[in-house]
Amino acid sequence: MLAHRPVIAVVGLGTMGCGIAVAALTSGMDVRLVDADEGATRAGIGRLTRRMQAHVESGLLEPDVLATLDRAVPAAGYADVGDAVDLIVEAVPEEWDVKRAVLASLSAGSPAVLATNTSAFPVDELATSVSGPSRFLGVHFFNPAEWIPGVEVVRGAQTSQDALAKALALLGQMAKEPTVVVSSPGFLANRLQLALFSECLRCVDEGLATPEDIDRVVRTTFGFRLPAFGPFAIADMAGLDVYGSILTTLATAFGQRFDIPPSMRTLLEEGRLGVKTGAGYATYTPAQVDELLARRDAAYSRLAVGVLPGSATRSVPTRGHP
Ligand code: NAD
Repeated sequence: MLAHRPVIAVVGLGTMGCGIAVAALTSGMDVRLVDADEGATRAGIGRLTRRMQAHVESGLLEPDVLATLDRAVPAAGYADVGDAVDLIVEAVPEEWDVKRAVLASLSAGSPAVLATNTSAFPVDELATSVSGPSRFLGVHFFNPAEWIPGVEVVRGAQTSQDALAKALALLGQMAKEPTVVVSSPGFLANRLQLALFSECLRCVDEGLATPEDIDRVVRTTFGFRLPAFGPFAIADMAGLDVYGSILTTLATAFGQRFDIPPSMRTLLEEGRLGVKTGAGYATYTPAQVDELLARRDAAYSRLAVGVLPGSATRSVPTRGHP
């Protein structure tokens, strides 16, 4: 935690900017707010206020958080963001020209660490518009930013260790769970998320299913597991031989995008098939396999309650099989 009360400037008070401001305020930070002009900033502060009030009315936040809005101060413009700011977060629309112009003005007006909330633009390309690019990086929050714990912290080729450390410290104070990623189009999360969504769109366009059917299948099957485990842990539990066979079927039908990549082929050739052989993408002692499967079953049975029809009354096994 920083020695003083941190100050975050949020530039662009739309969906993301307001969420980031809520996250900062409820973590005890001061916030400076700027939108395109004075009127837009006033409107943005109105949206922020209503958002926090709605969270209080829904019982998601305690009523006393509304007092933190006193620490949300409008700035007259980019030049008014000031020096006494620990982090500036740019959250203006995902348009190259708009982002470049805003980042150029912000970096000319303040020496603070400067972060872009871009969803997919490589930070190294945006850095060419920033003066002092060593203090520039990506801090990619997810919507709604006040609730989603993960943040991609995009380290550009020129990002300094100091800037990175400062951003990570502030995210720590917000109780976020950051992952440092490199400057590549879509970073990790959107590359993965959009790969899934592209395939969803293909399925709809091919007439295989409706969007409603796809949403239900994702939510109730493999998507159901994702709050507890990531794709590599899930693959290890399923068996890489099983995944290899499925990929072969898909590659035969749909082509190269489903080819088994060389790294996975090596694991298959070495007989590293996941938990059932004690090694896959991770290695496991027999005790760790037991612990993992017990944790999986406990997590899924907890998730099932209230999510799947009848789950609250259904008896669920406490131990499972790989
Ligand atoms: P939005 O349209 O809801 O909000 C953008 C805000 O920026 C508006 O309030 C607008 O008035 C303001 N703005 C426009 N021009 C400006 C300028 N020159 N100076 C200052 N403010 C200006 O957009 P959003 O969904 O909040 O997205 C903002 C950024 O966050 C984008 O880069 C987007 O890709 C990224 N992002 C969005 C999501 C999401 O789910 N919406 C998630 C993660 C990241």
